[in-house]
Amino acid sequence: MIMQQVCVLGSTGSIGQNTLDVIARHPERLAVYALSAHSRIERLAAQAAATSARVVVVADDGARQRFLNAWPGGAMPEIRVGAQALADTAADPEVTSVMAAIVGAAGLPSALAAARAGKRVLLANKEALVAAGGLFMRTVRECGAELLPIDSEHNAIFQCMPHGGRAQAPTQPAPGVRRLLLTASGGPFRAMAREQLDHVTPDQACAHPNWRMGRKISVDSATMLNKGLEVIEAHWLFAMPEERIQVVVHPQSMVHSMVEYEDGSVLAQLGQPDMRTPIAYALGFPERIDSGVGLFDLAAMGRLDFELPDLERFPCLRLSFEALRAGQAACVALNAANEVAVDRFLKHQIGYTRIACIIESCLERMSAKAMPRPDTLDEVLDLDAQARGLASELCISGS
Ligand code: NAD
Ligand code: MG
Repeated sequence: MIMQQVCVLGSTGSIGQNTLDVIARHPERLAVYALSAHSRIERLAAQAAATSARVVVVADDGARQRFLNAWPGGAMPEIRVGAQALADTAADPEVTSVMAAIVGAAGLPSALAAARAGKRVLLANKEALVAAGGLFMRTVRECGAELLPIDSEHNAIFQCMPHGGRAQAPTQPAPGVRRLLLTASGGPFRAMAREQLDHVTPDQACAHPNWRMGRKISVDSATMLNKGLEVIEAHWLFAMPEERIQVVVHPQSMVHSMVEYEDGSVLAQLGQPDMRTPIAYALGFPERIDSGVGLFDLAAMGRLDFELPDLERFPCLRLSFEALRAGQAACVALNAANEVAVDRFLKHQIGYTRIACIIESCLERMSAKAMPRPDTLDEVLDLDAQARGLASELCISGS
C-alpha cells in the first residue's frame, strides 16, 4: 500500500479536526505532511506535535511567533508564512492528497494550486466551486488531478454514481442518470414563525439541529444559502444542468442525497450525520476504511420525513438558483456578498433577514454592470473583491 502524504488546509476547523481524527486511525496508510490555520495557532501547534507534521503554514509573522511560543517541544516542523506559501504547500511534490477545508473564497487559490499540481483533491471548500466552478473543473481535467467531494450531499451522490473507481471531472451527466436529489435539513429555522426571524441571534442561527460545524456554514444552513451553494457545487461536480437538480427538505439528515436513474431507480446514501464518513470515504477511495462512526440504528429513528423547501421563507435558495442561471459572474457575486453579510451578522452588525436583502441588492447592482465571465483566477478574485466592496457598502447604508 502506498502511504498517502496528506496536506490539511484549514486543519483547525471542524472539517480539519475530523480529518485528523480519521487519519490517526490509519497510521499504516495515511500520514500528515502539512497543516495550515488562520487564527487558532495554539491548536495548530498541538495538532502539529500530535501528528508529527513536517510543515505548517500560517498567515503572517505574528502567527509564526505565536506558533513558536506555543510549540510544546520535539522536532519542530518547517513554518511557512503567507497565502503564496499556502498554495505552494498544496502543490508541494511530497504531498499526495490535499484536504481543502478552508472556509470561503479565501480557500480558492490553494485548492486550485492542488488541482493544478495533479493531486488527489478532497474538496470541502464549496465556495471554491461556486466562485470558479468552470476554471476549477477544467484544471482538474487538464492537470490529471483526482477530485473527491467531501460535502456530505455530494459525497453521497458520488457514492451513488457509476464512477468505475475513478474520481474525475466529468464534462456531461453520467449516462442513465435522470436527476440528482439533494437533501437539506432545513436548519434551525425550518418551522419558526416567520415574524420571529427578524430577531434571531447568531447563536440561535449556529445551533444546527443535526450537525456541528464552523459558524459561517452554520449560518448558511440556517438561511439555506448553503443548499444553494450546494446546488451550484453539484452542477459543476457532476456536469448536471440546474433543472435536473432537486432540493428536498429532510429534517433527520440521515439520507445524505440521492441519484435518480432513467429506469426509475433511486439510489440513496444513508448514515449518521458525522463528517468522518465522507472524509474516510475520500481518504480511503476506492477502498472503504474505518471512520470511527458507530452502528446505524434505523429502528431507533423510526421515520424519515421529506418535504419541498419553502422559497419564501428561504429567499437565499431562490437567489442561488437565479445566480446559477445567470452564470459564473453572478455566482461569484452571490458567494462574496453572502460571506460579507454573514460576517456582519455574526458580529451583530446586521439582522438575520438582512443577509438575503444584501445578497439580492448586490446581485442586482452587479448584473447592471454587465459583468464579463471570469475565466482566470485573477479575474475571479477581482470580481470577488468588487462584490465584497459593494456588499460592505450595502451593509452600512442599510439599503
Ligand atoms: P471552520 O470555520 O470550522 O474552519 C475553517 C478553517 O479555515 C480553519 O482552520 C481556519 O483557520 C481556516 N481559515 C479561515 N479563514 C482563512 C483564511 N482567510 N485563510 C486561510 N485559512 C483560513 O469551517 P468548517 O466548518 O470546517 O468548514 C470548512 C469548509 O468546509 C467550508 O467551505 C464549509 O462550507 C465546508 N463544509 C463544512 C462542513 C462541516 O461539517 N463543517 C460540511 C460540508 C462542507
Ligand atoms: Mg453539505
